[in-house]
Amino acid sequence: MHALPRRDFSCTSPRHIMETTGFTENQLMVREAVGQICADFPNTYWQEHDQKEQDPSDFHAAMAKAGWLGIALPEALGGSGLGISEATMMMQAITESGAGMAGAQAIHANVYATQPLARFGTREQLRETIPNIISGKWRACFGVTEPNAGLNTLGLSTTAQRLPDGSGYRVSGQKIWITCAQVASKMILLARTTPLEQVRRPSEGLSLFCIDLDRSQPGLEMRRIKKMGGRAVDANEVFFDGYSIPSDTLIGEEGRGFKMILHGMNAERCLLAGEALGLGYAALAKAAGYARERVVFGRPIGQNQGVAHPLADAYMRLEAAKLATYHAARLYDMAAAAAGGGGGGTRLRAASSRTRAKYVAAEAAFAACERAVLAHGGMGYAAEYDVERWLRECLVPRIAPVSREMILNYIGEKVLRLPRSY
Ligand SMILES: Cc1cc2nc3c(=O)[nH]c(=O)nc-3n(C[C@H](O)[C@H](O)[C@H](O)COP(=O)(O)OP(=O)(O)OC[C@H]3O[C@@H](n4cnc5c(N)ncnc54)[C@H](O)[C@@H]3O)c2cc1C
Repeated sequence: MHALPRRDFSCTSPRHIMETTGFTENQLMVREAVGQICADFPNTYWQEHDQKEQDPSDFHAAMAKAGWLGIALPEALGGSGLGISEATMMMQAITESGAGMAGAQAIHANVYATQPLARFGTREQLRETIPNIISGKWRACFGVTEPNAGLNTLGLSTTAQRLPDGSGYRVSGQKIWITCAQVASKMILLARTTPLEQVRRPSEGLSLFCIDLDRSQPGLEMRRIKKMGGRAVDANEVFFDGYSIPSDTLIGEEGRGFKMILHGMNAERCLLAGEALGLGYAALAKAAGYARERVVFGRPIGQNQGVAHPLADAYMRLEAAKLATYHAARLYDMAAAAAGGGGGGTRLRAASSRTRAKYVAAEAAFAACERAVLAHGGMGYAAEYDVERWLRECLVPRIAPVSREMILNYIGEKVLRLPRSY
């Protein structure tokens, strides 16, 4: 590696470049307090955990200990009673700290997957589960995606078959890409309880469960997937083969699971958008710091417009995506407060705003991360400069939970009223 004038760029460059005007006091308080916890987990911690594929359980524990996992859960259940606007800020503060998607994924299902549970769960379900998730004793994962259904969630084929005596269900089928399943005690599971042929609409006959992941029981197997980024957290194929679950794991009414799970999915889009923003700002701050200090041809590389302009452009993309993200989160909270979400037009606008926000934040993050690697030259490829890790990770918000192509399909059909393409 060639000699550099200074090697501690992350200390000398301002870490936070986002314009914070317009945020609420609560959001700024969350940003500050979460940032302080994250400061105990430096970039070297995340580099090591990424390389060793080691779960950041102490980070999860630190966030739980400080009460942050219950940020968007009602106070009556032991949460903080804040909204998705604050939770999005929390997730952004995590990725922006340098923890990246690994830090976010270590906790985010606990924040969004618990939303439908908190809203539709019985008192008995909530009494034990929510406090244990908030305290960090139990971790949760979200079991929706299937290999044979992909983005066509309504085509999922995992079944939960009710036992004749009504005491429970047997689950059979396969889930894929389930983050943190190896370390989770609970899974929020979407499964079909009425065959597709017997329902009027494919969105009917799906049910939502909060199940134990009891590896000592027959019919449950997990296989870790080797992946490109966020390697500290596990992603898995999960196989169910007649796995028994009791009837009290059902959330809400049987057959109405899809409507319920949307509360989790909608929150997830806002959180993912925030996570993307944090990655982008972190990468850009690091690139600007490097470009100020790295001298080639007798001047800082940032003096060259070929280096400076792509970074300046990436900054403005992030700032625009930030406005879209926090607008969408605010609409989510307003709809939740109105409990029902207003008329169809309001719901469409809110859904469209979340989808747009996730899209533009993911694209802005990708631009920032890619340009940050390029601005570092060869050092952009070295693990110790972090930007390669963030570039690998910033692909996730582009793919999940809904891909760029499906968002474009949605906007084309629902907003521009173009013919449906699929
Ligand atoms: C790191 C990671 C973590 C994840 N964590 C979880 C988790 O915890 N829980 C969970 O349930 N899921 C999780 N997922 C799954 C994720 O939500 C899915 O990967 C995502 O929804 C895409 O589905 P798919 O992979 O099946 O893609 P496919 O549906 O196979 O699509 C493949 C490609 O084809 C395109 N495509 C498909 N149909 C159309 C069409 N009609 N028009 C245009 N383009 C189309 C898509 O846009 C995409 O580019 C995770 C994924 C990743 C990568």
